[in-house]
Amino acid sequence: MESGEWREAAAEAALEEGRLVQVTVEEKPVLLVRAQGRICACGAECPHYKGHLVKGQLSGHVLTCPSHNARFDIRDGRLLSPPALNDLATYDVKLEGGKVWVRSRGAAVIPMPAGSDGRTFLIVGAGAAGNAAAETLRREGFSGRILLIGMETAGPYDRPSLSKDYLAGESPAKWLPLRGEKFYARLAIQVRLGSRVVAIDPRSRTLTLADGSTLQGDRILLATGSVALRPPVPGIELPGCFMLRSLADADALIAGLPQSGAVAVIGAGFIALEAASSLRKRGLEVHVVAPDAIPMEKVFGPEIGRRLKRLHEESGVVFHLGRTLAGVQGNGRARDVLLSDGTHLEVGAVVLGVGVRPAVEYLAGSGLAEAAAVPVDSRQATAADGIFAAGDIALVKDAGGGPRRIEHWVEAERQGRHAARSMLGKTPLPREAPFFWTRQHGKSFKYVGHAPGWERAVFRGDPQGDSFLAGYYTGGLLRAAASLGRDLELIQVGQLLEAGRTPSPAELADPGFDLSSKGSA
Ligand SMILES: Cc1cc2nc3c(=O)[nH]c(=O)nc-3n(C[C@H](O)[C@H](O)[C@H](O)COP(=O)(O)OP(=O)(O)OC[C@H]3O[C@@H](n4cnc5c(N)ncnc54)[C@H](O)[C@@H]3O)c2cc1C
Repeated sequence: MESGEWREAAAEAALEEGRLVQVTVEEKPVLLVRAQGRICACGAECPHYKGHLVKGQLSGHVLTCPSHNARFDIRDGRLLSPPALNDLATYDVKLEGGKVWVRSRGAAVIPMPAGSDGRTFLIVGAGAAGNAAAETLRREGFSGRILLIGMETAGPYDRPSLSKDYLAGESPAKWLPLRGEKFYARLAIQVRLGSRVVAIDPRSRTLTLADGSTLQGDRILLATGSVALRPPVPGIELPGCFMLRSLADADALIAGLPQSGAVAVIGAGFIALEAASSLRKRGLEVHVVAPDAIPMEKVFGPEIGRRLKRLHEESGVVFHLGRTLAGVQGNGRARDVLLSDGTHLEVGAVVLGVGVRPAVEYLAGSGLAEAAAVPVDSRQATAADGIFAAGDIALVKDAGGGPRRIEHWVEAERQGRHAARSMLGKTPLPREAPFFWTRQHGKSFKYVGHAPGWERAVFRGDPQGDSFLAGYYTGGLLRAAASLGRDLELIQVGQLLEAGRTPSPAELADPGFDLSSKGSA
């Protein structure tokens, strides 16, 4: 739609308070809503994977996307929370003759701030948290120098896709970059790729790179993510054994997959299971090997773990649970996988998905890392002045529950945004309840909150079916929830967790109980 032209969008009477309505205006989906008395109009697709915002949760003026919980301010389309990176397109609205008319305000872009701040901010790690921080610094008006340093040769990209559509061969490489070169150039974000930071002097805030050069910054953000673990068994270094952390890993795996036959996936965490799902889509025979009795039991509990297992088995995945990888053999290439019970599997490739550890080697001797992670406070600040950390490496210690380190995409992006504000001396925004999703065989399992353990799990709906919500309680308090096919209720539970409110187990289990507005104190 041309900017500046008024178009009829809907009858005014069609807009009830708080009800999201999608209309098509000049072939574009537009969302209309009467929120707190005012009619607002904005783009109806979430900029992240085109989630259907009309099915989202509207709370006051905050609209949450049902797909991956990005949040927007419905009044001006402003992005409030990732994984979306862009604001929504917005429209002027007028009422005339009982009709709602809209006029496009044009595409939403992050402006390059005016000003001449002389400071340099260094960001180590061009991944989820690092990219989010760089963008947020500009959004928050920082006009100084931003240097985003990454050791991969690819710029920031959609890492979660590597084990999903990208591995399945359903999305091309050109869809992976979070942003294009022009974006970074316009916002004067210098992206230095293929550069590994090998040391840091926290007192002078100086980084040393692998080529021996140094960089000094007024503020530094550490956002180096995780390193995938390689099980220490004989033969694990053979060609044909693949990790799955980076784009280079994914490309090597795809190039090394057999045309047909079997692949062993070692591990039954979410990345391993997503890989299993994607490899089945390629028509390969998939064997999952893991010591666990039930996949993802530690995260979701036995009921949902069994549901996941059945989902995989129905799609043809073969599990070898209660067993570990004992060795890999082959004449110059992985061909035979030996399990701890003596079983042999004849394979064309091995995918290693046994977990990760924080990427913090370069912090050795700096005093910034503790137990192989970087402790941070509510501002994402480390113990050293002017140095912040975010994402997988950050061990968050604040008033919002016990220390926690969360290895998930949305949380990393949120922490990157929080860190950026703190680097500018701005007050921290309230923390959102941690959220993650995993998609396997076309089904999205979602999780909100943080419950490394729990005393009681309560279900709304049947965990063996396709529509359920699980609540994880400790000490009578709801700590986290998981869902399949109940996106809105999961969002609502997240909002209750953020408000410090707990629905009773009976309320959570009762499908008639409205989680959006109630919840006992
Ligand atoms: C295959 C896969 C699928 C996933 N799927 C999901 C999902 O569905 N949902 C979900 O919530 N999460 C998912 N995750 C997890 C999510 O991607 C991570 O939690 C998130 O990327 C962490 O963000 P980060 O910024 O901390 O680190 P990363 O995004 O890993 O970025 C860190 C960057 O720093 C670079 N780096 C490391 N050390 C150095 C150094 N010394 N010098 C310079 N650069 C360095 C790394 O190369 C990397 O590019 C997935 C992860 C993988 C690997």
